Amino acid sequence: MVNTESSRLARPGRLGAYGTTVFAEMSALAAASGAVNLGQGFPDEPGPVEVLEVARQAITDGANQYAPGRGMPALLDAIADHSRRTYSQDVDPNSEILVTAGATEAIAASVLALCGAGDEVVTFEPFYDSYAATIELSGARRRVVPLEPADDGWAFDPEELRGAITPQTRMILLNTPHNPTGRVFSHDELALVAELCIEHDLLAVTDEVYEHLVFSGPAAPRHERLATFDQMRERTLTISSAGKTFSVTGWKIGWVIGPPFLVSSVTAVKQFLTFTNGTPFQLGVAAGLRLPDDRLHRVVGRLQERRDQLCGGLESLGWPVMRPQATYFATVDAGALGGTDARQFCLDLVQSVGVAVIPMTVFYDEQHRSSGNRLVRFAFCKRESVIAEALDRLAKW
Ligand SMILES: *Cc1c(COP(=O)(O)O)cnc(C)c1O
Repeated sequence: MVNTESSRLARPGRLGAYGTTVFAEMSALAAASGAVNLGQGFPDEPGPVEVLEVARQAITDGANQYAPGRGMPALLDAIADHSRRTYSQDVDPNSEILVTAGATEAIAASVLALCGAGDEVVTFEPFYDSYAATIELSGARRRVVPLEPADDGWAFDPEELRGAITPQTRMILLNTPHNPTGRVFSHDELALVAELCIEHDLLAVTDEVYEHLVFSGPAAPRHERLATFDQMRERTLTISSAGKTFSVTGWKIGWVIGPPFLVSSVTAVKQFLTFTNGTPFQLGVAAGLRLPDDRLHRVVGRLQERRDQLCGGLESLGWPVMRPQATYFATVDAGALGGTDARQFCLDLVQSVGVAVIPMTVFYDEQHRSSGNRLVRFAFCKRESVIAEALDRLAKW
């Protein structure tokens, strides 16, 4: 038998420090203890039946082999039409789109293709957890600009963004609407990002997986696409995901839109990560993108009811909650409830009343953990009865 202690087999893997994600850990804890799971952000209601039915039929009809490298032609055409209809953005389906294994692969292939040792990537903190790992894998360095809780949600200091850019900066990696804060970046914020990208000749990668999950109401924000800003088209990769838009997170169908030379670079990497994936699901998503807009409005309308159910319920329990403008998530200030360590607070919550949520610390750099240490993230993309049960349990806390 090999002595794994002394053997080279024991050498830590490239991302050894990352271990299992807290999402998997909390979901496992929730499942083992029968807790209500408001941790991981996956919907527990089925997506539009038209979308599901097309994928089912595609399997029956034999669409079960490798898709072409860039994606199924029907999906590429549907993405181009959707971009034109929704953003007045003209996209060539043959050279400016790449279908990926979810947004996660789109982000990874983009960063791995375009960044390396000596480069820096600027992103906003808290950030989606795959960003840190992906930037590290590429060999580049991460520089973060803090988003801070403010009166109207969350905001960043423009000077912090300017100050984060150095001669080594290669890319700004931006997520709007933003997970975990639910922030939709404003027109002025995006204009500043565009100005800096042009001034310093930077690439922009925008993670827009929640593009269709923006809530309505007085002073509701509008999601805008950075690539449609003047002179940004040639330097921006826009990333979307069917998982979030159509409540099919298990399908892992995402895509990148960008200028041909950038999409070719990303394709070169992507082909050796997964080559292609999800042939019948790609056809289902193509049908989804062709649904009338009111079908998507119905999905986000139901989600908004769940947001109001959860946030209203937490408020009546006296829990300080920030009502998000978009996404699946609301932030609670656990510090105001006596929680000084978000992770411990989440473990206590799951053990004492059986509700699983996510400590926001996982979306912060190690050195900035204190900023997230008072905050926890609740997912409300769950059935009405599940949220009601969670609120009943939290009332006993
Ligand atoms: C869910 C999510 C992703 C991953 O999307 P997949 O299509 O499931 O890979 C990427 N970015 C953000 C901000 C997300 O919330």
